[in-house]
Amino acid sequence: MPEETGERLGLRTLEDISALILQSHDLQETLDNIVNLVAKRMSSDVCSIYLLEEDGETLRLHATRGLSRLSVGITMKTSEGLTGLAIEQRGVVATDNAPLHPRYKYFRQTKEEKVLSFLGVPFFERNNPIGVLVVQNREARTFTAQEISAVSTIAWQISSIVSNAKLLDSIRKKEEERAFYAAEVDRLKKNGVLKDAGRPSRKNQGSGVLTGIGISPGFALGKVSILHRGASEETVVERARPRAEELSRFMHALEKARIHTIYMEKRMGEILSEADAAIFHSHLMILEDRGFIRKISTLIDEGVGAHRAVNQVVEDYVAAFARMEDPYLRERCADMEDIGRRICDALNGSSKNRERLRDNRIIIARELLPSDVAIMDHGKVIGIATERGNQNAHAAIMARALGIPAVFGVEGLLKKVGVRSELVVDGNSGCVYINPDHRIKREYVRLQGEFDLKQRALEEIRDLPAQTTDGCTVSLLANIGLLSDLRVAQLHGAQGVGLYRTEFPFMSRTSFPGRLEQAAIYRKVLEGFPGLPVSIRTLDIGGDKELSYFPHPKEENPFLGWRSMRISLDREDIFREQLAAVLLASASGKCNLMFPMISGVDEVRRIKGILEQVKEELRRDGKAFDPEIGLGIMVEVPAAVLVAEMLAKEVDYFSIGTNDLIQYTLACDRNNPRVKKWYDPYHPAVLQSIKKVADAAAGAGKQASLCGEMAGEPINAVLLMGLGLRSFSLSAPNIPRVKEAIRSISLAQANEIGERVLRMESAQSIRSYLEAAQRDLGL
Ligand code: PEP
Ligand code: MG
Repeated sequence: MPEETGERLGLRTLEDISALILQSHDLQETLDNIVNLVAKRMSSDVCSIYLLEEDGETLRLHATRGLSRLSVGITMKTSEGLTGLAIEQRGVVATDNAPLHPRYKYFRQTKEEKVLSFLGVPFFERNNPIGVLVVQNREARTFTAQEISAVSTIAWQISSIVSNAKLLDSIRKKEEERAFYAAEVDRLKKNGVLKDAGRPSRKNQGSGVLTGIGISPGFALGKVSILHRGASEETVVERARPRAEELSRFMHALEKARIHTIYMEKRMGEILSEADAAIFHSHLMILEDRGFIRKISTLIDEGVGAHRAVNQVVEDYVAAFARMEDPYLRERCADMEDIGRRICDALNGSSKNRERLRDNRIIIARELLPSDVAIMDHGKVIGIATERGNQNAHAAIMARALGIPAVFGVEGLLKKVGVRSELVVDGNSGCVYINPDHRIKREYVRLQGEFDLKQRALEEIRDLPAQTTDGCTVSLLANIGLLSDLRVAQLHGAQGVGLYRTEFPFMSRTSFPGRLEQAAIYRKVLEGFPGLPVSIRTLDIGGDKELSYFPHPKEENPFLGWRSMRISLDREDIFREQLAAVLLASASGKCNLMFPMISGVDEVRRIKGILEQVKEELRRDGKAFDPEIGLGIMVEVPAAVLVAEMLAKEVDYFSIGTNDLIQYTLACDRNNPRVKKWYDPYHPAVLQSIKKVADAAAGAGKQASLCGEMAGEPINAVLLMGLGLRSFSLSAPNIPRVKEAIRSISLAQANEIGERVLRMESAQSIRSYLEAAQRDLGL
């Protein structure tokens, strides 16, 4: 390797690959550019990308730099050669003398006889291998762990490009299966149906209750606003225009739709999070897809009007998505319709359905598309009900993030609801009451009143400290996962974030976010709590948290298996990228790094070593970060409890993760309802462990906090104070209750409860004692 380190090179290459992806929209062109770039940056003689064919056992060479150009297209079985081995063992294959490897096989067409060293890294889509990135050198070169990490990260990036391209490709193939005539008949039929069902009459159509799927909790009572579709859904009588004019109209409309999509991505990014806004990024990819554009242009060339051509192609895509087995992909029909509608709106120069609401309204629609949600008047929309769609629909995800109560999939809704209807939308139960009678209305008005009262009580207490009557102050921070939780946490008066579970933004994606993308998310969390502590926990995947795009071996005992910190330490490429991202964000606030599932001092020292290297790298690059960033560990494994004194010397703080600590201490799966009765936070072993950790931290002058669910119960918080803890991180809606309890007791009372409980020998007696204490304290 030349002067730069493997990781630095890899990361620089990654940044360039991101730029390449943005610039090109053709898979082949992108892959060709990637192999050239990687070969150059890694100083390798050969770099190739092989993709796995649909049969799952044939690998095809798709792009190469260094092998004969004629060899592109050659195939090999996964059972042969080192590239096949990378697929078979779902892992990296590296050797400095390939011909000596037992799996080596010489492929004549590639003319690779002079190549000695081999590094093959497979990449995956939803746990299934889809290809291999291969780097080869003529000389015997031992690939360092850092180089392997770098190539692995690049392979991840490639997997997302290939997945997206494959998706579009599979749609194309499915389209071709359909005869043109059948598609035409389908389309006409569909238009007929739309015309019938899409228009409710203007009068009140009656009353009653309809049920659908509650997709966003809460309830709303109010008048409706019916969302009518623009002309794009109806049959449009197009004026005959010369083909060239139609083509230019289409190109203009496409550009407008693109700009509009970028605008919506930005708007959603501001209102919600980048992850939520990513929906529009995928729309952008389709709007820029050459195949999609070509299909429409071809139809226009054949004399079909621009409007019809767009609708026809979009319908073919929709039909292809509808036939997909995967429910998530099936839901992408709505995205495709949305894209089509945006182009058609641009063609018509219309924006019919984007009316401003004069007062609060419940939105009624046949189906809500992501752009409908993006542009709606969020301050005035109090509820949503639609005929189509379900939990997975992007519009549903957005409604939840915006906190708008919503029910989707209400059959017959538009026939029953008129412009003067009044509705109750209950997003919890999935019920929609049309013109509800006074009793139902009264009930919902009561619920609303209670809710408002609670809100007011909450607001009163929000800015007060969690301080006992004898002056002991406790910190109450929030556990958050999605960026939308930030607002909830602020609303409930959280004094910072004690646990930011970073796996959530990773979960809502189709590939690993890069360091800059991650840093932008972490920065948002920090900016949500200026001057207050924010603990960003590194990836805690495995167990019950899987990433669709991260290959995870099938394990007998996933919670005892390859999870959490173990994955981060085995996959340094991913870990370093995350550390760099957190460090980059750390300049924007009071940031702490927290590591999950630590079992001993060795792990902490190794983490600290890696962190120092990443800091050094950022320093070299002139990047700003907080050099004093706090280091915390989760104490959630019994081993960590036993060596807590040793660990306390290594870190700045502990955060006790009782959700896991209980399961590991009591050998009791936290998700298995059958063993629920054994999963007991009051087991003396659990409480003694907490006490031991609190003492170890205090002895070393460090802070111990607790971020498991257990702290959300007021009586538990009091008990935990009695065990020595002064900081809790909890689900934000529990903060006011816990604060109220702390403000109503004295530290002396909490200490007495703690001491008594520590002397008890059974969970049952502890439970009974705490129930009585709760009553006595009026909690
Ligand atoms: C815990 O284990 O207590 C914890 C807070 O982490 P998680 O629930 O994310 O495993
Ligand atoms: Mg945990």
